[in-house]
Amino acid sequence: MVGFSHKGSDTTRVTNPTGRDASQNYAERVPTPPRDSFHQDTRAIVGGRSDSRALSAELSPSTTWSSDGLDDTHRNAVAGRRSTMYSRYTNPTVRLFEEAVAELEGAEDALAFGSGMGALATVVFALCSPGDHIVAQQQLYGGTLAFLAGPVQRMGISVTFVDATRPGAFTEAARTPRTMLVIAETPANPSLALADLHELGGIGAPFTLVDSTFATPMCQQPLAHGVNIVLHSATKGIGGHNDALLGVIAAETDLVDAIWAYSVLHGAAASPYDAHNALRGIRTLPVRQERQCASSLALAKWCEAAGKFSAVHHPGLPAHPQHELAKKQMTAFGSMLAVELAGGEDACRRFIDALELIRPATSLGGPETLICHPASSTHFGLDPATLANSAAADGLLRISVGLEDVRDLIADLTRALEKLAT
Ligand code: PLP
Repeated sequence: MVGFSHKGSDTTRVTNPTGRDASQNYAERVPTPPRDSFHQDTRAIVGGRSDSRALSAELSPSTTWSSDGLDDTHRNAVAGRRSTMYSRYTNPTVRLFEEAVAELEGAEDALAFGSGMGALATVVFALCSPGDHIVAQQQLYGGTLAFLAGPVQRMGISVTFVDATRPGAFTEAARTPRTMLVIAETPANPSLALADLHELGGIGAPFTLVDSTFATPMCQQPLAHGVNIVLHSATKGIGGHNDALLGVIAAETDLVDAIWAYSVLHGAAASPYDAHNALRGIRTLPVRQERQCASSLALAKWCEAAGKFSAVHHPGLPAHPQHELAKKQMTAFGSMLAVELAGGEDACRRFIDALELIRPATSLGGPETLICHPASSTHFGLDPATLANSAAADGLLRISVGLEDVRDLIADLTRALEKLAT
């Protein structure tokens, strides 16, 4: 477990369990190579290393750290985000996870939260006040849509929803003096519609946020396009094992600090246990994504060729209406696809029931291939117009492709299609 020196003024110094000053030992014996020279796969391995020699991130479950007395506690209170006082302010294990995400996103800094929704709600209420205006994509995760359509507007913040697939739509809608934030999600859940990162980066709204959950940091880098904040539900591909509920944002340090100042009041703090699991997930993110992206594209091509679906949505398919944009802004096309059945919800129910390997579940990005019917689950409860605009059609099934042999996945889909036809 990471320990903080009880005595002495430098409360941020990390000591290893033997009590040696690990930062000195480690720095002397293992010089850190210049990070900028590393490729993305290597960054996933070197990001978020503590000063200790432990190769697995050290779990620090403490919620509170004692101090040397009133003055020391005050110093910590003033130190804000750099304090080691209370886990809602910062936690060493969560900090390592944040550093690893910043490394992968090419960001100055990152901040973790108790969930993706916790991250989004904190950012919105940190940056926006009553009377402000948000421009949001109409094709978004159902929770994000419900949040923007409900609590956000109840607080006096207006929201204009735009079709992300229409070039220039974000820019046009952001031309009001009170527009504070533009929110996009690309690829979108569950439609796989794309938002143009180059357009978003040029808006300067004053703030632009891209939910990059479907892409993970391995498939696209929104900040490199000039976007201000990249957000992930790290519950998904980043954590990657269905055992961590986490959200994270990455951005410039000043902006992260400003959001942090509000986040300690909002209280959606990340758990060190989940951060520990997700940091372990990050070490294998590149290889998992490589396999999952390849299998997802193979599956999408197979579904297209099968001719049994009324539509197949995958940004890597030449038939995807934004395939050229996908090629421009993504290095791989992600692990997600969606298929549509002409028979609507009833056909989807029967199709899911006929599957033997692919499991019905609402999360994504993990080792198991999962299928869900968004209109009745992740997007359930939205008003009919919002649901229709989100493109979570009645007959649409979202598939998160895992790490199984793609031949077994194809066999499962084949069986289910045959059963559906009987
Ligand atoms: N963003 C996207 C694209 C999602 O798919 C989800 C959840 O499914 C979220 C945000 C919310 O994340 P969480 O479930 O970690 O709160």
